[in-house]
Amino acid sequence: MSNLMEERVLSVRHWTDRLFSFTTTRDPSFRFRNGEFTMIGLKVDGRPLLRAYSVVSPNYEDTLEFFSIKVPDGPLTSRLQHVMEGDPIIIGRKATGTLVLDNLKPGRTLYLLGTGTGLAPFLALIRDPETYERFEKIVLVHGCREVAELAYGEEIVSGLTSHELLGEEVSAKLIYYPTVTREPFRNRGRITDLIESGKLFEDVGLPMLDKATDRVMLCGSPEMMVQLRHMMEARGFEEGSNGEAGDFVLEKAFAER
Ligand SMILES: Cc1cc2nc3c(=O)[nH]c(=O)nc-3n(C[C@H](O)[C@H](O)[C@H](O)COP(=O)(O)OP(=O)(O)OC[C@H]3O[C@@H](n4cnc5c(N)ncnc54)[C@H](O)[C@@H]3O)c2cc1C
Repeated sequence: MSNLMEERVLSVRHWTDRLFSFTTTRDPSFRFRNGEFTMIGLKVDGRPLLRAYSVVSPNYEDTLEFFSIKVPDGPLTSRLQHVMEGDPIIIGRKATGTLVLDNLKPGRTLYLLGTGTGLAPFLALIRDPETYERFEKIVLVHGCREVAELAYGEEIVSGLTSHELLGEEVSAKLIYYPTVTREPFRNRGRITDLIESGKLFEDVGLPMLDKATDRVMLCGSPEMMVQLRHMMEARGFEEGSNGEAGDFVLEKAFAER
């Protein structure tokens, strides 16, 4: 069996000139844990051109969804941003990653801290019933430069309160905290600063980060991940991995070239 599947694009939505999302068909044999990523891409000159992508759709859905950046001269996304309904898309069978619930020790509050497309894995996790079984509160923080970049996350989160199975749990447990750095908005500032100053906790009405009760997942730019890892370690949080559950886990949302 090939380790690559050919699926079809079902729909595409452009959110800004830098961001789009799309859904695809799903081979029923493709399995993944919510929060994982896989390799996806296009055939270019007869050969697969693949990049890592977090799966946005929860693993119980029949279709797959992805959230993508458009890098103007990016080998993949300069092409991928033009896909249309019916186009073929290659998806790797092997999903992997560290942003999974099993990699965290039990806790009371789960913080999901993402910047840019680093929101993607958390959109699967906030639609996983197990997230609500394991935690009393889930705080989803999404940091972007501009307000328009929040639209995709906002739409998914707002639709969740009326979700047939999860609606009640979401209303009681999920706190959504979008924040913007370059425009006026109700929440302003970088995630690192909001943690350091305590403003985030003041705004969501929860105590400051505490290893005894809180668990954290981080996904964003490599630079942001370095800073946040230091901040977590300074607070005594231990990093988890596949095989050893910890107090926090992180994934870079993209690699620097
Ligand atoms: C574990 C993992 C999961 C990922 N999940 C996603 C995802 O869900 N959605 C997504 O759009 N990308 C994701 N990426 C990044 C993705 O793999 C590609 O880098 C991206 O699609 C651009 O591909 P490219 O070939 O056009 O350009 P590349 O040559 O891959 O990247 C060129 C440059 O663009 C910048 N860049 C790349 N990706 C991003 C991004 N997402 N946000 C901001 N700047 C970026 C970087 O500076 C990079 O050096 C993920 C990467 C990793 C390692």
